[in-house]
Amino acid sequence: MISGAGLSGPAEVRRSPDGDLPAALRIRHLDVTFTNRRGEIPAVRGLDLDIAAGEVLALLGESGSGKSVTARAVMGLLDHPGVRVRADEVRVAGTDLNGLHPDRIRALRGETMALVFQDALSALNPVLSIGDQLGEVFRIHRGLSRRAARAEAAELLRLVGIPAPDRRVRDYPHQFSGGMRQRILIAMAVALGPRLLIADEPTTALDVTVQAQILELVDRLRAELGMGVLLITHDLGVAAEIADRVAVMYAGRIVETGTVTEVLDGPAHPYTAALLRSVPDLEQPGDLLRPIPGSPPNLLALPTGCAFHPRCDRATQRCPADRPERRPLAAPGRSAACHYAEETVDAAV
Ligand code: SF4
Repeated sequence: MISGAGLSGPAEVRRSPDGDLPAALRIRHLDVTFTNRRGEIPAVRGLDLDIAAGEVLALLGESGSGKSVTARAVMGLLDHPGVRVRADEVRVAGTDLNGLHPDRIRALRGETMALVFQDALSALNPVLSIGDQLGEVFRIHRGLSRRAARAEAAELLRLVGIPAPDRRVRDYPHQFSGGMRQRILIAMAVALGPRLLIADEPTTALDVTVQAQILELVDRLRAELGMGVLLITHDLGVAAEIADRVAVMYAGRIVETGTVTEVLDGPAHPYTAALLRSVPDLEQPGDLLRPIPGSPPNLLALPTGCAFHPRCDRATQRCPADRPERRPLAAPGRSAACHYAEETVDAAV
C-alpha cells in the first residue's frame, strides 16, 4: 500500500467518458533534427508510439538509433538552438505537449511525466542529504514544510525498498551503493505519481543481481501507481524481463513493434533478428558470437531505400531503391518496416 501526500496519485487525471485512463503516451510523426557545421542530422524520423496506462514498452536499438533523443524530445529537454523538434502530436496522459510553452512543459515534469537517467551518481547532488533532495520535490510542488517533506522523503525510501528509511534520509549520496542510488533516483521520479515514467538505460551500470532488483521495483511501481513506462534499453534481456511490448529503432525510425513474445520469438525485421542472434547463448558456451556486420549508418548520409540494406542478409535489389514503410502485420499492434517481413517471421519460427 502506498501512502504519503505525494504518492496519493496525481492531482488531476482526466479520464475518458467511459472511465478509462488516457494513454500514458501517444506520439504521432515525431521528427528531431540536429544541425551542425557538417549539415542536418535526422536523429528521429516520423516516429509513432503508443503506451497505455500501466503498460511497459521497451524501446530497443543500438547506440545512436534515436532512443534517448526520443525520450528527451517528449520531456521537452531539446529546447536548444540547433535542434528542431516537430510532431503532429505528443500527448502525455491526455495533455498535448505540442506548442505548449516551455514553462508549462517544465511544470508537467515530475507531476505528469518523469525521466530516470542511468548515471545516478552524477544525477544526485553530492552536498545535499538524500532527505533534502527528495524533500525538495514536495516543498516545491506541494508546498510542504521541511519537516513534512522529509517525512515524505522517508516514505519514498521505504517505497523503493531502502532499509531504515527514517535514518537514511539524513545520509548523502556517497553513503549509498550504486543500486541504492538508482533506487533513490527512481523514488525521486515517482514522487509525485507521474502517469508516464521514462527510464533511460536505468540498469546499465549495475550488476546482474541489482539489475533484477531495479527491474522488479519498476514493475511493482507501475502496477501500484498505474504508470505507463517507456523503458529505453539496448539489452534484450532487460526488455524480456518486464516489458509488455517492444518497439525496435534503427537509424531514427521504428522498424518493428509487437508484444515481447512476438518480437523476441519471431522477429519480423531482419535487424531485430540480427540483434537477437548477436546475444551470446549462455546455454551454448562454445558458440561463436555473431555480431551484426558493418556499423550503424552515418545519419548525415543515410543509405538510400531501406537504411539497413548494407548490413542486411536478406536484402534484394529492391531494398536500396525502395524505402519500406512500417506496415501492420497479422497480429494486432504488430508491425514492421521491411518488404520481406512475413518471410523473416517464417524463417525465425
Ligand atoms: Fe533487409 Fe530489404 Fe527488409 Fe531492409 S527491406 S530489412 S534491406 S530485406
